[in-house]
Amino acid sequence: MPGKLYIVPTPIGNLEDITLRAIRILKEVDLILAEDTRTTSVLLRHYGIDKPLHSHHQFNEHRSVDNVTDRLLLGSVIALVSDAGTPGISDPGYLLIRACIRAGIPVECLPGPTAFVPALVNSGIPSDHFIFEGFLPHKKGRHTRLQQLAKEEKTMVFYESPFRLVKTLTQFAEFFGSNRYACVSRELTKIHEENARGTMEELILHFSSKTVKGEIVIIVEGLKE
Ligand code: SAM
Repeated sequence: MPGKLYIVPTPIGNLEDITLRAIRILKEVDLILAEDTRTTSVLLRHYGIDKPLHSHHQFNEHRSVDNVTDRLLLGSVIALVSDAGTPGISDPGYLLIRACIRAGIPVECLPGPTAFVPALVNSGIPSDHFIFEGFLPHKKGRHTRLQQLAKEEKTMVFYESPFRLVKTLTQFAEFFGSNRYACVSRELTKIHEENARGTMEELILHFSSKTVKGEIVIIVEGLKE
């Protein structure tokens, strides 16, 4: 009998943002796969969870998938977590989940924190239809993708680093227009949470006047007829 793979979302900042079931599952599994074992240890210590931790990140994911599926096929129950939010959302997860499904191993993803949902809802921009872009390519394909997105009518969701924020907003202004409305959510769930709303022009001005720090989601309204 195969075991089971649980995908367990973890807080994106505020350690209180974890479900009771996520805590129970993490306490019950045989092994926890973590992106960065040091980051996950902080969370586990906070909740008094003492379980073996193995690393599973983008650089060992291909190698790790075979070992993990072998263990699961022998009956182990394993949880996959990432540094923050939901594994598989701009984080490792997909390859392992696909391998488990192909091998007939049960997979269950718990609902829980992910950065783009509060950013989208906070933005006040229509959330009935949206596309999740995650991180734009840094070089190859970036311009082509921006050209395609210029015609997108649905709300767009981007993940971005603080160092690239102004550059990306400037390109959004260039491709989507300086009047396009957007919301930049920074440090969600943390003490210095900020949700800056306005046109691209206003946002560029706002973020150019200071050193931008922290984690960022950008929500951009779609093209209006
Ligand atoms: N798996 C995560 C999720 O479910 O949202 C995303 C992981 S991705 C490697 C990290 C990116 O998520 C950050 O660069 C940022 O764009 C976004 N992010 C994560 N935590 C955030 C927070 N507290 N506030 C704003 N954005 C955040």
